[in-house]
Amino acid sequence: MKIIYKENKGGFIKPCPCSPGRLGCDYYIIAPGTGCPFNCSYCFLNFYSKSKDIILYSNTDKMYREFVAFIDNKKNKPLRFGTGEFIDSLAVKELDSVNLELAKIIKQRPNIVIEFKTKSSNIDTFLKIPAQDNIILSWSLNPQWIINEEEKGTASLEERLYAAKEIVAHGYSIALHLDPIFMTENTLDDYLELVDKTFSIIPAKSVKWLSMGGFRYVEDLKLAILENNNGKKWFLGEEYIKCEDGKFRYPKFLRLKFYNRIGEKIKQKGAIKTYLCMEGAQLWKDISWGDYSVLTNLHPLEIGKSYGSITGY
Ligand code: SF4
Repeated sequence: MKIIYKENKGGFIKPCPCSPGRLGCDYYIIAPGTGCPFNCSYCFLNFYSKSKDIILYSNTDKMYREFVAFIDNKKNKPLRFGTGEFIDSLAVKELDSVNLELAKIIKQRPNIVIEFKTKSSNIDTFLKIPAQDNIILSWSLNPQWIINEEEKGTASLEERLYAAKEIVAHGYSIALHLDPIFMTENTLDDYLELVDKTFSIIPAKSVKWLSMGGFRYVEDLKLAILENNNGKKWFLGEEYIKCEDGKFRYPKFLRLKFYNRIGEKIKQKGAIKTYLCMEGAQLWKDISWGDYSVLTNLHPLEIGKSYGSITGY
């Protein structure tokens, strides 16, 4: 896999599009590039990205200018950004200087938070600078056997958790993502154990937000997964329902069962702002451990106070 530098002729910043009819979380995407050195079987980049290479945008100066103009235009509103939607934020060392520049831009702007999301354990760049309250390092987690099968090339679960522990010891806060959750007959206990293991290593109070999302797909992704795996993939053999937004998801009763059991377990670990990614109001109504008002309070400065509106609904 090569790294290719290319000019981005479009914009660098955009609101997370979430999915039609779903409850969004007021999140903004900064895109320094597209592609990933890892090989997750379920990743939307399998069909979204035409190139197998990693594209990094060469006109980063334009990105910084656009970012500063965007946040200054919003005055002091608390805003959350993330760079990890189209690329792993930390897996590519060529992004280190970009990450540091973004960190520098927000240093004196406490209302702005940037999340750097990864499945790696590459934390050295952030360990070399003093921790900032408004930088959140985040990890996507799955049980180790799913990492072995479906997240080839990524750091192991323990490597991710110990990297997170080290970053917390350095003074940063973190976020966690249980996404995608594979919901089959035998996997619930694996996710409950994952929660236990995670919080046996990481202090719950260091976790600024935690998301959960069941595996979901559009038809193009299913085709790409089958094409890459000789027409077979165990998790595609389950029952999925086509939802109004065109995405296929596990049936609602199954999603509720997993979200409720895992969410209750998380609640036992501490008061962690936990939310569902790309789920609708109907499902949120039946969640046992919270309600969707959390979506407007995920920013660390928002302590039980709402701002803005729930998007995508
Ligand atoms: S819930 Fe997920 S998809 Fe929706 S806005 Fe938030 S991060 Fe984006």
